[in-house]
Amino acid sequence: MGNKILVTKSSMPSLDEYVNEIKDIWDTHWLTNMGEKHVRLQEELVKYLEVGHVELLTNGHMALELTMQAMNLHGEVITTPFTFASTTHAIVRNKLEPVFCDINEDDYTIDVSKIESLITDRTSAILPVHVYGNICNIEEIERIAKKYGLKVIYDAAHGFGERYKGKGIGNFGDVSCFSFHATKVFNTIEGGAVCFKDMDFGRELYRLKNFGIRDTETVDGIGANAKMNEFCAAMGLCNLKHIDGEILKRKKVVECYRERLCGIDGIRLNTVQKDVEPNYAYFPILIDEKVFGFSRNEVFEKLEGNNIGARKYFYPLTNTFDCFHGKYDANLTPVAMHISKRVLTLPLYAELSLEDVNRICDIIVSMKM
Ligand SMILES: *Cc1c(COP(=O)(O)O)cnc(C)c1O
Repeated sequence: MGNKILVTKSSMPSLDEYVNEIKDIWDTHWLTNMGEKHVRLQEELVKYLEVGHVELLTNGHMALELTMQAMNLHGEVITTPFTFASTTHAIVRNKLEPVFCDINEDDYTIDVSKIESLITDRTSAILPVHVYGNICNIEEIERIAKKYGLKVIYDAAHGFGERYKGKGIGNFGDVSCFSFHATKVFNTIEGGAVCFKDMDFGRELYRLKNFGIRDTETVDGIGANAKMNEFCAAMGLCNLKHIDGEILKRKKVVECYRERLCGIDGIRLNTVQKDVEPNYAYFPILIDEKVFGFSRNEVFEKLEGNNIGARKYFYPLTNTFDCFHGKYDANLTPVAMHISKRVLTLPLYAELSLEDVNRICDIIVSMKM
C-alpha cells in the first residue's frame, strides 16, 4: 500500500541551496533581529507580491494579532466562522468582539449582502478571509467600509501570489495578512507578513513586533516579540526562487482532480473565479450525501482506510469552539454550518504525483458504483 499520502507536504529547496544561503551566517553570527536575510526577503516580497510595503513576522497569527493592535481597534469586528482558529482567536485575544457573518454558498467567502445588517456603532473593522485562495468580493467590501468608516483587514493566509484583476492580492483593504507556515503555498518554515500602504501603521506594527521599543532608551508600546529569524528568512529566499514552478505543479494536480471528479453526482468542486489568478492552495470538495450516497465523514474514513489523509477543513466552525462556551449562535451562520458539515479538502501539494491523484480519485469514484 506504500506510505501514507498526507493532505500536504511542505515545499523545500535542495539542501545544497539552503546550506549555501545560510553559510554566511557562520561569518556574521547574526541570527535574528532584522538581519540581512530578513531585509532582503522583505524587499523581494514587495516585488513578488507587487505591494507597497511588507513587514515580516514570526507567523501569520501574529500578523493578524499585531495588525489589530497596531490599528488600535475597539468594539466589534465583523468576520466569518468558516476559517482557521487563528482568525477568530486574533480578534478575541485583542479583547475585541467577533461578530460572525455568514458565507457564500459557492466560494465560501464572506456574504457581503449580510455585512451591513451586522454593523453597529461599536463596529470598527471587517476581517474577511480569502478562503482556499478564493477571493472575497473586494469592491463591495471596500464600498461598505468607506460608507461606515471601517478598517478592512484581509486574512490572506491562503492567497499568496494571487492576483485580482491583474493586481497583487496584498494591495486590497487597509492591510492583508499572509501566513508562511510550512503547510502554505509559500513557506518560511514558520512565518508571516503584513502588506500595507500607510507608513504610520507600518511603524506601529514594527514597534509591536519588537517589544514596543521605539529607540534604545524609549519603550512606549506594550509590544510582543514577533521577529522573523534569519534561518526562516533564508528558507523564504530559497523557496521564493521556485514559487512560480511550485504553483504550476499544483495547477497540474488540480487539473487532474477536476478532470476526474467533475461529472460525479453529489460532489461539487471549488468555484473557478472570474478575474482571479489562482495559486491552487487547496482542493476542497463538497459532498452531498443524499446524491452521492455517502457522507463527508464516510468518504474521509474510506480515504483514511486507504492511507490517504484528507482534512475536514474547516470543521468545526470557529463560532462553535469549546473555548467560547456557547457564546455564539452558529444557527446565525447557516450556510457556513451547511458547508462545514459537507466539505473535505483532498491532498494537494506540488510534489503530489498524478498517479497518486488518480488513485485518490479511483477510491472516491468507486464508492459511487
Ligand atoms: C494558517 C492560517 C493562519 C495562521 O497562520 P500561521 O502562520 O499558522 O500562524 C491564519 N488564518 C488562516 C485562514 C490560515 O489558514
